[in-house]
Amino acid sequence: MSSAQAFWSIPCEGGEPDLWVCMSCLNEVFRRKVPKPDCPTCHGVSTYEAFTLEAIRDWGTEELIAKAVAAQAEDDAPQAAPSGLSAVESAD
Ligand SMILES: [Zn+2]
Repeated sequence: MSSAQAFWSIPCEGGEPDLWVCMSCLNEVFRRKVPKPDCPTCHGVSTYEAFTLEAIRDWGTEELIAKAVAAQAEDDAPQAAPSGLSAVESAD
């Protein structure tokens, strides 16, 4: 059976922490979204809190930091029509 994880997406203002870490197992982190209906690792509900990558580097396990970096990189990949990114200028 395929088990595609479902997520609630969480809109974040620019500059706000947008990496959501499970405070129960400290083993899952997602960017601008949290898994539903619960944490895939510990099945905790409402256990996610937002942190910056810097903060996670401060106290996270190596595994968690690696996941946070991957989550950030994944979301930085070009996707459909990003909007409101004033820092992005045309390279043309
Ligand atoms: Zn968890």
